[in-house]
Amino acid sequence: MDRSKTENVGADSLLCPSYVSKPGAQLFGIQNGEGQIDYLKTSITIDQTFVEAARKGRPAEERFRFAGKCIEKGCHQWNDGTHQCGLVGAIIERMNSALSNAPVHCPIRGRCRWFAQKGMEACANCNDVVRNLEINHFEGAEA
Ligand code: SF4
Ligand code: SF4
Repeated sequence: MDRSKTENVGADSLLCPSYVSKPGAQLFGIQNGEGQIDYLKTSITIDQTFVEAARKGRPAEERFRFAGKCIEKGCHQWNDGTHQCGLVGAIIERMNSALSNAPVHCPIRGRCRWFAQKGMEACANCNDVVRNLEINHFEGAEA
């Protein structure tokens, strides 16, 4: 077993780190001037006011990272055979970033679906990801 992975996290409570901007979602990262994600110390639950303000200009999902409950079978990225998210593996394969690129801290790590599956390898490839990119490149990817 990969010891870097979180243990004792209930599968039912795992969060998708590729969530949309909507009330109740957890804001956990903000894109900086270099296009990289600055991970917050603690995640923030967003409300309707934030959603409306953040949608001005570029889509909020291109500038912020949100997390929310992984909906498993309700998501086209879910592989019901392996009972895992197929998106994170596709991202790792595509990005192939060194482990040294992983953020030291991420406020949702203890409940992140991708981290639970792939450990720090997921984190190393997470920084470059914005939801829009995932949609463009991984829509319909084999899980
Ligand atoms: S299966 Fe993957 S992409 Fe879909 S909601 Fe869960 S973590 Fe997110
Ligand atoms: S993969 Fe790692 S860095 Fe990305 S959201 Fe999950 S815990 Fe955070």
